[in-house]
Amino acid sequence: MSRVYNFSAGPATLPEEVLQEAAQEMLDYKGTGMSVMEMSHRSKAFQSIIDTAEADLRDLLGIPENYKVLFLQGGASQQFAMVPMNLMKHRVADYIVTGQWAKKAFSEAKLYGTANAVASSADKTFSYIPDCSDLPIDEDADYVYICENNTIYGTKFWKLPNTKGKILVADQSSCFLSEPVDVTKYGLIFAGAQKNVGPAGTVIVIIREDLIREDVLEGTPTMLRYKTHADAGSLYNTPPTYGIYICGKVFQWLKRRGGLAAMKEYNEKKAKILYDFLDQSKLFKGTVVKEDRSLMNVPFVTGNEELDAQFVKEAKEAGFENLKGHRTVGGMRASIYNAMPMEGVEKLVAFMDAFEKKNGK
Ligand SMILES: *Cc1c(COP(=O)(O)O)cnc(C)c1O
Repeated sequence: MSRVYNFSAGPATLPEEVLQEAAQEMLDYKGTGMSVMEMSHRSKAFQSIIDTAEADLRDLLGIPENYKVLFLQGGASQQFAMVPMNLMKHRVADYIVTGQWAKKAFSEAKLYGTANAVASSADKTFSYIPDCSDLPIDEDADYVYICENNTIYGTKFWKLPNTKGKILVADQSSCFLSEPVDVTKYGLIFAGAQKNVGPAGTVIVIIREDLIREDVLEGTPTMLRYKTHADAGSLYNTPPTYGIYICGKVFQWLKRRGGLAAMKEYNEKKAKILYDFLDQSKLFKGTVVKEDRSLMNVPFVTGNEELDAQFVKEAKEAGFENLKGHRTVGGMRASIYNAMPMEGVEKLVAFMDAFEKKNGK
């Protein structure tokens, strides 16, 4: 068996320990004689899996009691519709457009009401986070929406926007559990699992209880109402059972690692190795303004498309996978989520250094 360093933006690398545990439990989960995949979602064993996952997540993030945790399906993209369907009571919402995912959420919201783009960084290819200290927030806005970490462009909101009292909704897919978060600052957080916590298809929603309403937009399907899932403890229908099980294992792994404060420290050190290299390199350049850099997704370029392609190819041959940038951006991107070990980044940087020297810089 040989494992590569997988820098994919998602589905992304998972902790080896978690995969090994799952492998050991594949045929017989804790004496049940079956795999978690084959198990009834109404069984005692599965109830314990989902309860433990929720308790560990609450513990990690310090989720207050007046917030519900939901394990849903449909990925993060489903939330682009669920958020307006459930929260757009006055049919107005303000969106901060900082990349492709925010743009998609913004377009989706327009299907349900008036969505305003109150700030955008499209003018400079989303390479920065706009100043959000004094935005023209609509008086009737039901919420203000951000994509907190922009997976494709590698930017991160290090300061949350001033929503002028409106509810903040955040897509945290690619920074979820990478650092401690003050949940009380948000009305709703969602995260697709496949970036930092588990298999694709599972999406985690953390929602303040008063936002779980009966009076959702007319025509909202039962399955797309937060209330349906909150009332049923995420077991209204068959949830993504195996995904929840793996997420639960990742939560336990994070606790063993010392929790989110320790994770943040580790992630900062890890990202610094790569950013420090980029800042002194004569060949490679980061594409994001320094103060808005993500700790999770690091895009960079050589400035020469052919050389970019050659780098990606040679890196792959050396065991560094999925370094090609997003198809809309080009260049390279190293996604260095929680599960990417320090060693992976150190080796990548050594490889980049050698590539630079070989190419005469
Ligand atoms: C990947 C990603 C999505 C889309 O996730 P799906 O599960 O494929 O719907 C949405 N938002 C962000 C920030 C992402 O990184």
